[in-house]
Amino acid sequence: MNISVAIDGPAAAGKSTIANIIAKKFKFMYINTGSMYRAVALLCMKNEVDYKDINQVCDLVKSMDIYFKNDRIIVNEQDLEDEIRSVAVSNNVSNYAAIKEVRTILVDIQQKMSAKYNVVMDGRDIGTVVLKNSPLKFFLTASAEARARRRYLELNNNGILVEYNNILNDIIKRDYIDSNRKESPLKMAQDAIKIDSSGLSIDDVVKIISDHIKRYMAELKVI
Ligand code: C5P
Repeated sequence: MNISVAIDGPAAAGKSTIANIIAKKFKFMYINTGSMYRAVALLCMKNEVDYKDINQVCDLVKSMDIYFKNDRIIVNEQDLEDEIRSVAVSNNVSNYAAIKEVRTILVDIQQKMSAKYNVVMDGRDIGTVVLKNSPLKFFLTASAEARARRRYLELNNNGILVEYNNILNDIIKRDYIDSNRKESPLKMAQDAIKIDSSGLSIDDVVKIISDHIKRYMAELKVI
C-alpha cells in the first residue's frame, strides 16, 4: 500500500517548502498540484484562450503531457517551472482552476500518481478530494499578512521585484476565489490536522508533520 500525505491551505502558506522537505526526508515523491493549475493557466494565456471558453481550455488541457522531474514541472517536454511563477499567472490561475472539467482531468492525473508512488501532495483539494482516504492530512495556514510578507521576501530575493501591497491583494483575491468556487473549494478536511504557522519556523512545522507520519508508519510497521 502506498503512503499519501495531503497538505492543503491558502496561498503562500508555505505548503510547497514544507511538502518538499517532508518528501525528501521520507523519500516520497513531491507533487505540487498548484504548479499543474498554473501550467494550465500559462498555456491558455500563451495561446490566448480565455477561461470562459471552456471547450478550448479543455482541448488544451487534454493535449498536455504533465510530469515532474527534479521537482520542476515539465509540460509537453518543456520545463515551465520558472514561467508558471510569474505575477501574471498568479493573477489568473484561480479562474482556470475553478473550471470543473479542468479539475476532473488534473485530479485524475494526480490520483494516478498517488496510486503508483508514495507521495506528498500539496494544494487546495487534496485532503477533501484527491486523497480523501488518506489518513495523513494537514491544513497549513497563517494570517494573510504573514503569508504576503513571506511571498514578498521570497520573490524579491529571487530578483522578481514586486510591491508588498500587490502581493497581499493577490493573496486575498485568490483565497476568496479558491474558497468560494463551486467545484472543490479550498476547505479543511474534517479529519485534517490544522497547523497555524504564523508563529512557527519551517523546522517546527516539519517536525509536527514528520512526527505524525512516523507514528503512522510505525503502526503500519514500515519503519
Ligand atoms: O499552490 P499555488 O498557490 O501555486 O496554486 C495556484 C492556484 O492553483 C491556487 O490559487 C488555486 O486557484 C489553484 N489550485 C487549486 N487546487 C489545487 C492546487 C491549486 O485550485 N489542488
